[in-house]
Amino acid sequence: MMSFGMRLSPQLAQRLETRLTQKQKLAVANQIAGLRIALVSALWGVKYEPQAKCPKCDRKLTPLEILKGFNDDPQDRTTQCPNRRCKYRFPANLNSGGIQLQMYCPTQTLAALSGKQDVSPQEIQKWNPSLYHSAIVNFGSLQNAFRKNDVDYKHEDALPWLERVLPFLGKLSDKMIGEVVGASPKTIGGIRRSYKIPAFKKSAVKVD
Ligand SMILES: [Zn+2]
Repeated sequence: MMSFGMRLSPQLAQRLETRLTQKQKLAVANQIAGLRIALVSALWGVKYEPQAKCPKCDRKLTPLEILKGFNDDPQDRTTQCPNRRCKYRFPANLNSGGIQLQMYCPTQTLAALSGKQDVSPQEIQKWNPSLYHSAIVNFGSLQNAFRKNDVDYKHEDALPWLERVLPFLGKLSDKMIGEVVGASPKTIGGIRRSYKIPAFKKSAVKVD
C-alpha cells in the first residue's frame, strides 16, 4: 500500500518538471523586469522602484507582479494581489528617488497623456508627478510615450544615454534597451558589437 503512494507517475513527474520550468521562467522574467527598471533609473539618475504591499494579506509584490495585476483600464488604477486566496485590488506606489508617487500602468499613462503634447515636461511633472514618472518608467521618456500614442512630442526630454546604457548591453535585449532610450535595436546592436559584448540570450540569464 505504501509503495504505491510513493511512486511518481510519469504524468506527475512531467507536471513537476513543467512547474519548475515555469518557476524558472518567472525568475528570469522578474530579473529582466528589475534590470529594465535599473536601466531607466541609470538613464535618468533617479532610483525608481514600483512598490506594492497588499493591505489585506501583507504580500509584497514584485515590479512584474504589479504590472501584471493592472486591468489595462484607464479608469482603474488598482493592481491585484497575486496571492490566490486574496486577489485584493489596491493602488500601487512608484518610489521615485525616495518620493512616494502613484504607479500608473502603461494604458493609464497613455490615456492620461492624450492631448497633452503641447505641455512641456516640466509642466507635466508639476501638474502630475505620478503620471510624469510613470511615463518614464513605462516607456523610457515622454517622447517615447507620445510616440506610442502616434503623437510627435516637440519638447526635448531625451537624454545623453550612450555611456549610461553600457552596463546593460547584453544583459537586456537590444530591442528592450532601444525602446527605453528611443533608439532602434540596430543602433543598440551596433554599439554592443563595437564593445564585443555578446547578444542577450534569455537562456543565459542566471537566476538564483
Ligand atoms: Zn493580498
